[in-house]
Amino acid sequence: MRNKKLGLYIHIPFCIKKCAYCDFYSLEGGKDDKYIKYSERIAKQIKKIGEALSNCTFDSIYFGGGTPSLIGISGFNIIFEAIDRFLSVDKGAEISVEVNPKTVDAKLAIALFELGVNRISIGLQSANDNELLYLSRIHTFDDFKRTHSVIKQHLTDNINADIMLGIPNQTVKSLSFTLESLIALSLPHISAYMLKIEKGTPFYKMSDLLPLPDEEQVCDMYEYLCKTQKSADIPQYEISNFAKVGFECRHNLKYWERGEYVGLGPSAHSFINGIRYSYPRDLVMYMSLDSPPYEEYRILSGADIRNEEIMLGLRLKKGIIPDARLFDIAKKYINGGFMEYKDGRLFFTTKGFLVSNYIISELIE
Ligand code: SF4
Repeated sequence: MRNKKLGLYIHIPFCIKKCAYCDFYSLEGGKDDKYIKYSERIAKQIKKIGEALSNCTFDSIYFGGGTPSLIGISGFNIIFEAIDRFLSVDKGAEISVEVNPKTVDAKLAIALFELGVNRISIGLQSANDNELLYLSRIHTFDDFKRTHSVIKQHLTDNINADIMLGIPNQTVKSLSFTLESLIALSLPHISAYMLKIEKGTPFYKMSDLLPLPDEEQVCDMYEYLCKTQKSADIPQYEISNFAKVGFECRHNLKYWERGEYVGLGPSAHSFINGIRYSYPRDLVMYMSLDSPPYEEYRILSGADIRNEEIMLGLRLKKGIIPDARLFDIAKKYINGGFMEYKDGRLFFTTKGFLVSNYIISELIE
């Protein structure tokens, strides 16, 4: 246990307005006192994990959501005070905060800088306002540009933008506008996720009415994305992530490389000592119980570990070192141009990433 390096994930389950496609655990609305109470609750949990993991050091901290920027300076002060008091944090730790355009001003940016935050992830989704409107986002592309400039001026250059493929009415041309706009802003990192119509969301109920691009169009967009980022010197390092060298998200790499992390907040997941566990998507329960029950609690078997190494490792562009069994099954995919084998590592090509779920299901035990 001594000197174990861990990641810390803090889930902030609040948003100004719920986006029509979103399946993350977050609740609409909220007032300052609710954010303060939640921050105090997280601070208490930090004290608890600090005592339980006193021999561990945290080398990444990630505030995800929801919209973490909503808790404001007072909320962040409460949480960082607990981090300083109860956790041992590496000097060079990566400390990321997800924000929404329209929720960061210069004051907050300066406060986050002073607290040690050194990476910001902005939820953009698209640079086309008509696509943002379809997604029921609360901001325009101009709002994004203003937020980006405030963060760059007062906080950090280490900025990610989340974008989306498969948005209603999206085309390769409109995606190209989004990518070129971000390249022009010199963003060192983008995460590009495909829109999934999740059960229980407003998009699910109206999916027949949505002018969604078809599968072939989305595949064209993905191929265009990979090509454009490569020529802009922002290479792909994971199925959905692209970064200039040195700007890869160290916290997220932990997930794919099976590093250990502790998650706090409703719906947060943890992985430590060979056990995966998560808390229920229930804010009231998280706030009211000192030790909230786990929703999932799984001690990984040998087969689970091997399968995770394949499933998670193959998300990375660098792939994995295959054993003889794996290499044997992968041969047909290498011959078909879906995978490559180079310098002892097996990894997906762009064409392979598009059908990676199918191929992985054959590769795992
Ligand atoms: S801002 Fe993000 S977390 Fe909040 S509802 Fe929209 S997509 Fe979901």
